[in-house]
Amino acid sequence: MKQSQLMPHAGWNVHILSDTREIQTRVLLGNILVTLGLTIFYIMTLLLVQRKHRLAELDRIEKESKKALREANEMLESRVLDRTQQLTKTNELLRQEILDRQQTEVKLKRARKELIHAAKLAVLGQMSAGINHELNQPLAAIRSYADNGKQFLEKGRMEEAMWNLEQIGELTERMAQIGFQLKLFSKKSSGQIVAVPLHGVIDGALEILNPSLKKANIVTTIKVDPPELEVRANHVLLQQVLVNLISNAMQAMEGQEAKLIKVECTGEDGKVVIAVEDNGPGVAGEHRQDIFEPFFTTKKSGQGLGLGLTISDRIVRDFGGQIRLASSKGGARFEFTLERTK
Ligand code: ADP
Repeated sequence: MKQSQLMPHAGWNVHILSDTREIQTRVLLGNILVTLGLTIFYIMTLLLVQRKHRLAELDRIEKESKKALREANEMLESRVLDRTQQLTKTNELLRQEILDRQQTEVKLKRARKELIHAAKLAVLGQMSAGINHELNQPLAAIRSYADNGKQFLEKGRMEEAMWNLEQIGELTERMAQIGFQLKLFSKKSSGQIVAVPLHGVIDGALEILNPSLKKANIVTTIKVDPPELEVRANHVLLQQVLVNLISNAMQAMEGQEAKLIKVECTGEDGKVVIAVEDNGPGVAGEHRQDIFEPFFTTKKSGQGLGLGLTISDRIVRDFGGQIRLASSKGGARFEFTLERTK
């Protein structure tokens, strides 16, 4: 680079020549730096703008997500509310239904008890003629023993008088026994399930039925093997089952010559099979399916309600057993199995 300066006082024209390489290098460096700076600035600006965009985008997405979340939340809440209301309603209905069921169950239990009782009274009604006879006979005998005793006393024959008085004592004992069994049979049972000695139950049932059995000339045999057998049941209700089965057998054999009823209790491992068998006509094939149905009867009206087997089976089921018709030819055999306690 050439620089000139006129120096008029001296009369000189001064020229200075300088090397421009350094300046060019600096200018190039400066240019490079400026370009670099500008590029960096541009990139930074670009990045900043991009970042701003991204932030704005993120903000938008966040807002949208929050909105969507809020909407979903609200929808969920309203659904939960709806569902809760529905559930509360269903719950209320269920509670009401349970209450209704419980009340129906109580009514049903009461009705069943009444029915069992009614069936007992019906059996007693059927046997009333026999019972009447059974009570009148000893009454007449007591009267004559009393008359005889009086006469023997008047004649001073103390020994004979004593014998007559003893007979009166025995007869009243027997009448009291019949009365006791009838009272036991006709009373409403609590239904409590305990250990019940089978001999006692069978004796009680036969005691009640004895007048009718005697009147109809029926031979009864009892087999309890071993004799001390006990089952889980209720004394009064089990007795009612036996009375029902035996009186059915009695009715089935009406009009035939030789009448036989067998009551058998056989002890097995942990259980006892109880059977009532007769030598009547048995159950006709077409009736076998129906005999346990309520109100099914083949008897003349007034003789049977068709409830005996239904109620007996119900009672036995409560003890954990089930009555079955084990044989229906050459007489009927009804059997059921109960839990053995001794
Ligand atoms: P009911 O004695 O009032 O008829 P049950 O339920 O006790 O009612 O008996 C239903 C029916 O089962 C009887 O009508 C009878 O046909 C039949 N049945 C029950 N026991 C015997 C039996 N031992 N022999 C033949 N049939 C029987």
